[in-house]
Amino acid sequence: MQFELDPLPYEQNALEPHISARTLEFHYGKHHQGYMTKLKNAVEGTPDADKDLVSLIRQAEDQNVFNNAAQVWNHTFQWNSMHPDGGGDPPAALKKELEKHFETVDEFKKTFAGAAKGRFGSGWAWLVKAADGSLQVKSTLNADTPLAGNDIPLLTLDVWEHAYYLDWQNDRPGYVEAFVEHLINWNFIEANLERGA
Ligand code: MN
Repeated sequence: MQFELDPLPYEQNALEPHISARTLEFHYGKHHQGYMTKLKNAVEGTPDADKDLVSLIRQAEDQNVFNNAAQVWNHTFQWNSMHPDGGGDPPAALKKELEKHFETVDEFKKTFAGAAKGRFGSGWAWLVKAADGSLQVKSTLNADTPLAGNDIPLLTLDVWEHAYYLDWQNDRPGYVEAFVEHLINWNFIEANLERGA
């Protein structure tokens, strides 16, 4: 694989005032990049170096390789889960789909926010499409990712402290609400649904 991060899909200041340029400078430039560098160092010169990222996550026998590969993938997925023009109401077709599984869009937002706020310690909140076709909200610990199992990831939010501490300090709920109300990239959910259907 290429040991280079995808560029951020927007400028570093594009998510302000909810997430600052300084947070993205560190979160993307130091944390996300750090996982990639550690992954490169761990697999270079081994047969793993020729695998793609998803195969590395699914086949990793070494916890360090898994952790760093999963964190590289999770972060790229999260940058795309947010958009400067995100939040508000989902497009009509997705609204219908969310209502099918959560009754209302508000109930989906509440459930997702609850998973993100309630994740004890470091981890991620997810919207996934489960193997039975249902849309479900889940949370994972540390580097764990639905990609390692049978769920199809549709949306994620990083709730490691490094994701919000510069802007929100200990106010994880404020960060989560800002994501849910102003940043969710509905079009990304739709694209993932179409790809995974
Ligand atoms: Mn992070």
